[in-house]
Amino acid sequence: MNILLLGSGGREHALAWKMAASPLVDRLFCAPGNAGIAQEAECVALDTANHDAVIAFCKEHKIGLVVVGPEAPLCAGIVDDLEAAGIKAFGPSREAARLEGSKGFTKDICRAHNIPTAAYERFTTPEPAKNYIRKHGAPIVVKADGLAAGKGVVVAESIAEAEDAIDMMFEGGLGAAGAEVVIEEFMQGEEASFFALCDGTTAIPLASAQDHKRAFDNDQGPNTGGMGAYSPAPVMTPEMTRRTMTEIIEPTLRALAAMGSPYKGILFAGLMITKDGPKLIEYNVRFGDPETQVLMLRLMSDIVPALVAARDGMLKSFDLRWYDDAALTVVMAAKGYPGDYKKGTEIDGLSEAGKVEGVQIFHAGTKADGSRILANGGRVLNVCAIGRSVVEAQRQAYAAVDRIHWPDGFCRRDIGRRAVEREG
Ligand code: AMP
Repeated sequence: MNILLLGSGGREHALAWKMAASPLVDRLFCAPGNAGIAQEAECVALDTANHDAVIAFCKEHKIGLVVVGPEAPLCAGIVDDLEAAGIKAFGPSREAARLEGSKGFTKDICRAHNIPTAAYERFTTPEPAKNYIRKHGAPIVVKADGLAAGKGVVVAESIAEAEDAIDMMFEGGLGAAGAEVVIEEFMQGEEASFFALCDGTTAIPLASAQDHKRAFDNDQGPNTGGMGAYSPAPVMTPEMTRRTMTEIIEPTLRALAAMGSPYKGILFAGLMITKDGPKLIEYNVRFGDPETQVLMLRLMSDIVPALVAARDGMLKSFDLRWYDDAALTVVMAAKGYPGDYKKGTEIDGLSEAGKVEGVQIFHAGTKADGSRILANGGRVLNVCAIGRSVVEAQRQAYAAVDRIHWPDGFCRRDIGRRAVEREG
């Protein structure tokens, strides 16, 4: 089968690496891809916002499955358009992708189906929103309803901060994403990323993972897309996994099926593990980045039949197998990220770093210039390692990081800290 993967980040490099290892794949294409993905797939310069162009490419290259990495094309309905043209695609429909595209939509489903989540209210004007905040007090969480590239959530420590966030959103600071605002209760606990592979009615949990959202060590500095991750997440015990499936994931699938938009693809639940059990923070409708990088290292099964079975509604008797080993990834980012940063700076030492035992390097934002590798984004490299424990995976990943010469980059030095402390 020929496969087309859409996207250009570390998540897509990890998916391409795993799919390229499948004996079922004849040709693997990636649009637009990056310098690392080019080692696994044929990169093509397709504008993925132009669905007609993607469809034409699929017909010309006899693509048997399209795998969509990021959320934007999913929310724009690329799966609907591909399927309507007779091309199989892995991922949710536009309607089902509203689980990520509209926080209010997801919260209303939770309320209607008793899915544990933070108490909330939806607002379309600032004054009632501010009244709600004054009534409930701080800390409190203000969220733009729509897609805001990770910038749409303000965890406010004070009422004044929450009011500023409301003004910023309603004044258009996040564009159309902030035209509606969700305000919700602040939840206390430990966060975990939970992934389920879904076929419309059946869901299979993937391995658990935890990421590190803040830019600097000890969870300091601004929020980012994610500076590192590890798997498994000790907080996700078998009991927590079971409860997450029965209390959160399965009722969501039933709700969407009842609405006539069955959910197919990866359902990524951001969880808060509270003293009362797992609660939903938010849904994403695709693989997480950088969690996917560690999940792909731990996945023993061929991923391609799993993706096809999800698309075909055939997960009922399906099983995924995982290595018991732990995996960890350190994100190397351009200095200045998540603010302004330089592009085009040179990275050396990647092949030396890749020789460290257990290490796999995925490219998140790179570009080739002849034999040179240049940074081409904020998050640039994912230095991943697998080991018998998180401690070992962490040691190997940082040994590889130390072989990379990139004066214009930085990384956190404490990825996996919580698990390492637990392992003692
Ligand atoms: P989100 O983009 O919705 O995942 O939110 C980004 C981050 O904000 C989460 O990873 C949490 O750390 C935090 N957050 C979001 N909602 C809540 C909440 N209701 N209570 C506590 N923290 C939250």
